[in-house]
Amino acid sequence: MSSPGQTELVLKGGRGGRGNSHFATATRQAPRFSEDGEKGEEREVILELKLLADVGLLGFPNVGKSTFLSIVTDAKPKIANYHFTTIEPNLGVVKTKDGNGFVIADIPGIIEGASEGIGLGIQFLRHVERTRLLLHFLDVSGQEGRNPVEDFYAINKELKKYSEKLSTRKQIIVANKTDIIQDETNLKQVEELAKKEGIELYKISAITKNGVTELIDHVTEILKTLPKEDLIEYEEKMVYTLEDKKDQWSIKKEDGVFIVTGKAIERLMGRINIEDNESMYYLQKCLNNMGVEAKLKEMGVCEGDSVILDGWELEWYN
Ligand code: GDP
Repeated sequence: MSSPGQTELVLKGGRGGRGNSHFATATRQAPRFSEDGEKGEEREVILELKLLADVGLLGFPNVGKSTFLSIVTDAKPKIANYHFTTIEPNLGVVKTKDGNGFVIADIPGIIEGASEGIGLGIQFLRHVERTRLLLHFLDVSGQEGRNPVEDFYAINKELKKYSEKLSTRKQIIVANKTDIIQDETNLKQVEELAKKEGIELYKISAITKNGVTELIDHVTEILKTLPKEDLIEYEEKMVYTLEDKKDQWSIKKEDGVFIVTGKAIERLMGRINIEDNESMYYLQKCLNNMGVEAKLKEMGVCEGDSVILDGWELEWYN
């Protein structure tokens, strides 16, 4: 479900179970007859909550995703200089100049092996599935001794392993921590990478906010061109219906006993109260309508014969 107020039918209750007032007619104002209800469906259903964010922040731990989220949105993620800062994806709303705004989700925990379940990766990968745009954060300061180009490919490899579709989602490279660059090598390599891969590159500092406004303005523009509804898909959409099974019955004769079985009979008997005369009258009417009676007669049913309807043995009388 992806919009407020949307409803989906997962389980249907059994049919029938109407009370006696339902059967009142002009001549029969207080019928004793009521229907037993049929059994409803039983099913085990796993519901999974997926975030619906417009933009996902990708990148190894400590590249500055939480810091960025905290300065462009009202979100208050934990920011810490260690590698396991966040175990839940953080969401924040960016208020744009045009008044619309968009949602950013920080998707921490995507590290090598994430798609095989290392760390909390797989759970986070699920969340990125529905973002429209990915901001791929790289630390170009060299402060952590990481190679941002290798990091870029490592994360994309995980994405691809998890979902081919996700790996084709639009990305923008965000070269962060430009305020503390001591050696330009990393930045140069990232510039070459962006060129080679044909991906846009924005250089920012989440701490000094340098370049952040330009990036947000650009994202706002891009989002206008990326469709929303395409991302909403049902992995498995099952609609369960209790379709009419009027024709589903059969009769066999064994040792002089007529055995009527089938879904239609099960359903009918589920609604019949054997001890109630009116209910039995209703049964007769239904058997007639369904053609069961005609078939029984055709098979030679006689007064006094046993007829078993879904396990209920009744004596036939004409
Ligand atoms: P995350 O794990 O990717 O969410 O990274 P965090 O936002 O928690 O940042 C990790 C560390 O890097 C924190 O100590 C931040 O203060 C620091 N940091 C983030 N962005 C910048 C930046 O642009 N410049 C500098 N100098 N430090 C930053």
